[in-house]
Amino acid sequence: LEKYVGIVTLPNQVQQKAVKKGFVFNLMVVGESGLGKSTLVNSLFLTNLYMDRCVPDASEKIAQTVSITKSTVDIIEEGVNLRLTVIDTPGFGDALNNHESWKAAVRYVDQEMEKYRTNEIGLNRKNITDNRVHCCLYFISPHGHGLKPIDVNFMKALDQKVNIVPVLAKADSLTPKETRNMKAKILAEIDKFKIKIFQVPECDLDNEVLFKQQTLELKKSIPFAVIGSNTVVERNSRRVRARVYPWGIVEVENPSHSDFVQLRNMLIRTHMQDLIHTTHYVLYENYRINCLCRNPF
Ligand code: GDP
Ligand code: MG
Repeated sequence: LEKYVGIVTLPNQVQQKAVKKGFVFNLMVVGESGLGKSTLVNSLFLTNLYMDRCVPDASEKIAQTVSITKSTVDIIEEGVNLRLTVIDTPGFGDALNNHESWKAAVRYVDQEMEKYRTNEIGLNRKNITDNRVHCCLYFISPHGHGLKPIDVNFMKALDQKVNIVPVLAKADSLTPKETRNMKAKILAEIDKFKIKIFQVPECDLDNEVLFKQQTLELKKSIPFAVIGSNTVVERNSRRVRARVYPWGIVEVENPSHSDFVQLRNMLIRTHMQDLIHTTHYVLYENYRINCLCRNPF
């Protein structure tokens, strides 16, 4: 005789249904041009998102202000389907009206929130495509002394609207000591200017010890010091992404060379759902409530 109705499998079903539908993740990269944004995104997702990108010539570059480009790839692994969209802001820093250029990125984030809200009010609210930006990687130059005023303004303009994850770009140009100092400086300034960045959630008491350790490591790595490369070399009969210099080779995925793996794990393996969840239940909710307050009827 059956003893159970079988509700034990309900959580699995929810998950299976979500898995079947696939995941949608929208990642924005911002920061000065030339900091390795496009390269890093390619390195993160093992795809060449920008294969058919044409390089603008010099004259075109100056005429260009901020133009936002969206690239979408479908990644399918072991039956799990991820539709990843990367939103790139290539012109930032090239444009002549530099101090205005970041506004386009902020506008983009707002627009996608607004589209989602309009869709939710509409009739066909069951199948809304989620184009909201779930995470914004903010690239910080390794050559400055901490944050620049434009970084502070930009992050302040974004931090109520999107999950900001700060990264220290091109970390191969700093020594380990310089990297530590720079990270400390950036964190101090984020604190001083009260910039809200994505907080890795605290562990539950019943989480596994290994997971707790990993979370602690992850928290300590922020801002992630990253290195990107589209060059693949052979090392000890393995093919790895690396930057090749006359004096040696910097491996992108070597944890003693950079925090690249930490960042990738967080974005893909451990905290993608958190970023999506926070976007929907905190950031979007704020946006929606603000709209209601301005426009009660
Ligand atoms: P973006 O303008 O921010 O998208 O920067 P790109 O990805 O186009 O890279 C600009 C230049 O920096 C290219 O020549 C890259 O090869 C180089 N680059 C990218 N990532 C790194 C890095 O981590 N370290 C170093 N040293 N150079 C990098
Ligand atoms: Mg780029």
